[in-house]
Amino acid sequence: MAGGYHIRAYCPNRLCVHVHYRPYAVTWRYDAAYTAAEACGRLPGPGKQCPACGTEMGFYPLYTGDSVLDG
Ligand SMILES: [Zn+2]
Repeated sequence: MAGGYHIRAYCPNRLCVHVHYRPYAVTWRYDAAYTAAEACGRLPGPGKQCPACGTEMGFYPLYTGDSVLDG
């Protein structure tokens, strides 16, 4: 896969053992990625709760460069 921006989900609870970051979506433009991350944070939906502690996860765009590194 070529470089692009991932929308990543993370658990904001510092006490949580779940330090898993997972890609939510991929886009090619920063402004689109940023808007998508903001939308993910605002809109209700399934899969937004941390599987370990239940805290609602946050989202942020991450540039992946030429490779996609998960984790
Ligand atoms: Zn958590």
